[in-house]
Amino acid sequence: MASQIDELVFLPLGGSNEIGMNFNLYGFGPPHDRKWIVVDLGVTFGDQLTPGVDIILPDPSYIEEYADRILGIVLTHAHEDHLGAVAWLWPRLRAPVWATPFTAFLLREKLREADLLDEVEIHEVALGGKITLGPFDLELITLTHSIPEPNGLAIKTPLGTILHTGDWKIDPDPLLGAVTDQDAIRKLGDEGVLAMVCDSTNVFVDGTAGSESEVRETLIPLIGTMKGKVAVACFASNVARMDTAARAAEANGRRVCLVGRSMHRMAAAAKSVGLMQNLQPFITEQEARNFPANGVLYLCTGSQGEPRAALSRIADGTHPHVSLGAGDACVFSSRVIPGNEIPIRNLQNNLADRSVRLYTERDHPGIHVSGHPCRDELAQMYRWARPTIAVPTHGERRHLLEHVAFARDLQVPQQIAPRNGDMVRLAPGRAEIVDEVPAGRLFVDAGVVTPENGDALRERRHAAQNGMVAVSVVLDGRSRIVAGPAVKAVGLPTDDDYPLDEALHDLSEAAEDALKRLSGDDRDLDDKVETALSRAVKKASQRIWGRRPVVETTVLRV
Ligand SMILES: [Zn+2]
Ligand SMILES: [Zn+2]
Repeated sequence: MASQIDELVFLPLGGSNEIGMNFNLYGFGPPHDRKWIVVDLGVTFGDQLTPGVDIILPDPSYIEEYADRILGIVLTHAHEDHLGAVAWLWPRLRAPVWATPFTAFLLREKLREADLLDEVEIHEVALGGKITLGPFDLELITLTHSIPEPNGLAIKTPLGTILHTGDWKIDPDPLLGAVTDQDAIRKLGDEGVLAMVCDSTNVFVDGTAGSESEVRETLIPLIGTMKGKVAVACFASNVARMDTAARAAEANGRRVCLVGRSMHRMAAAAKSVGLMQNLQPFITEQEARNFPANGVLYLCTGSQGEPRAALSRIADGTHPHVSLGAGDACVFSSRVIPGNEIPIRNLQNNLADRSVRLYTERDHPGIHVSGHPCRDELAQMYRWARPTIAVPTHGERRHLLEHVAFARDLQVPQQIAPRNGDMVRLAPGRAEIVDEVPAGRLFVDAGVVTPENGDALRERRHAAQNGMVAVSVVLDGRSRIVAGPAVKAVGLPTDDDYPLDEALHDLSEAAEDALKRLSGDDRDLDDKVETALSRAVKKASQRIWGRRPVVETTVLRV
């Protein structure tokens, strides 16, 4: 007979093994009748390895089967790696969503764009508010991070309390919003925390992340030294940083011009919850052209080298309204996110080529601080919460394992680092992995959600490496060649010793020979003809170029 005993489980379906696409599930009840809550539903971004794929989602197939048992989706904060997948995956989960006002504002924007706004039930919850979802009593705990309204969650269940930290650091002066609610965390610790599921991003970094106020103290005088136009690149979601850049501009007699769609979107979200007040109105890109060089500060998207973002277009000289050149400065108030090294290097080289002076966190410490806890902050959090079980999340494998060792050193009685898809039973008994469920990734390819490494992407990667050859042949009613085989090559090199014409001619001959070798019956079948042509062309290409290109064949009959 199936067990009737209630269990409390944690199941990461994203966010463990890699940074990004946080998708955490908590389950309560006997195994055959678990009730679930989802905490965060984020995306990650593609890179050079996923040409044409910008957005990557966690695969929800496992929990989709139990969608009717999902009591709610709770979002800790508005970063893309925590809410970016809602609009993509909500139709497969269909549970109500809870979020604080700033997060809810941005979520609504996304759902409106996806034409889902009328379908999704969104509950706005106040900072420090409470949510009851079946056996789960949730309490929001105000933390500090690099976006407004970052929340930790105290998840109380009949089998114990979980502190799900979400993303956090301890910023003693976050500029916008309240400081970390340490009283609430200490109180939770006094009452007893069974497990703490905690951010591992900076577990290798000693000390503390630093405060947004330090960035303000650095940027105001730094911008005062600049004579020409100034561009500041930062994440638009870091509203405190936007606010700092705006105040640094004002302190130095400059007006602020927002450049890039997400800057405008975030400014609107910030204003909706009463942030970024008492600033001079922003000027438009057109207005900025009428200001002297030392009278304007451009606040730009694109700090990660995103090709379509404002800063890349400015660096390419293709931005319609904004240009930078000799005497101007660009401040990267941001860090290099792993995976973006190459586009950022290209962007900075392009700006340098225009004689723009660059300021980065490497050469000007203090113009950026991280939003995630370093080791001193992690230790502090463990001292406040005193959990029985440490469950690291939000990191690559090496971060999670380092976090396990760190928690062990702090005398946390149990530590466990699940991979995506590992179901951890937190209670009753010692924490252990009791099941492994499918937990892959989905790729958004040209707006279509596809399996990870699906055929289209595989072919595109193959073509990018090896080029492509198209072969077409026209056959008559008796399968005799009327025209062709005609061959075209894309992305294959040629040289004077062996010009392309000759190569194509050789490929065509190879195709013709293959066709002639087919028996009469086979020649009547298009797929047999296609296979023969394709094989012959691949083999000949291997001989000519040492490569096997993607081969596309077309057989026409007249
Ligand atoms: Zn995150
Ligand atoms: Zn975050």
